[in-house]
Amino acid sequence: MSKLKVSELFYSIQGEGRYMGVPSVFLRMFGCNFTCSGFGMPRGQVSLEREEIANRISEFKQYKDLPLVHSGCDSYASWDPRFKDLSPLLTSDSVAEAIVKLLPHNEWQNEHLVITGGEPLLGWQRAYPELLDHPLMEPLTEITFETNGSMRLSQEFKTYMKKWKADKQGREITFSISAKLPNSGEPWEDAIKPQVVVDYQSVGYAYLKFVIATEEDLEDAKRAVKEFKKAGFRGPIYIMPVGGVESVYSLNNKNVALMAMKEGWRYSDRLQVPLFKNEWGT
Ligand code: SF4
Repeated sequence: MSKLKVSELFYSIQGEGRYMGVPSVFLRMFGCNFTCSGFGMPRGQVSLEREEIANRISEFKQYKDLPLVHSGCDSYASWDPRFKDLSPLLTSDSVAEAIVKLLPHNEWQNEHLVITGGEPLLGWQRAYPELLDHPLMEPLTEITFETNGSMRLSQEFKTYMKKWKADKQGREITFSISAKLPNSGEPWEDAIKPQVVVDYQSVGYAYLKFVIATEEDLEDAKRAVKEFKKAGFRGPIYIMPVGGVESVYSLNNKNVALMAMKEGWRYSDRLQVPLFKNEWGT
């Protein structure tokens, strides 16, 4: 039986992108191939908040004790190895049982499953079929993978997901691709992978979602969109304000909405910030 290293498992409202407002179970997988230490920082500088928290790791026994950060990746504990002991390794049986217990009626109705991270398309592609084949997961109809768009889909995973969708009418798979611009601190060549992203379209509905703070970020997003479109990407484009805490988010959400209108792109909010202060488990 395959095991999954689960950072967080919780029930909330999807705050971003296509399914904004939809009641959703979030399965946050451990591990990421990036660090995104540049978010919320002047270009070329990296956030040190995560380092400060890691130096006090013994104070934190569970995710909800961890501080929120104003800069860098806001889900840092889901990939930084120093926090790995907060994320248990669970069998697919126990994950399926825990998911169903979180649902308001203890069975799937119209809820949506979000598989997020970290980067959920790292090695975990091998483990998802066993989880999705669990009898408790059979009524599920909608899944979103929240990915950074840099990981190729394996042939086995593509074949499985296509079959999962075809097996039952109304099933949908979505890839919410938050490709990382230079404001994340990640190098362009590692983060902007048009051919990888275009391949997601062979399995499900795919859209791009860029985190934006400034006009310079918007120019980077336009350059990235050109590259994605040239490779054959045909999904919608969302832009979303930077800000894992309200003080940062509320500084630029309106500006980002105006930028989206100007470009004819979609605006994505981060509803978890004003509604739940982006606390762990929301
Ligand atoms: S890709 Fe996402 S999870 Fe990974 S470091 Fe960047 S923001 Fe965090």
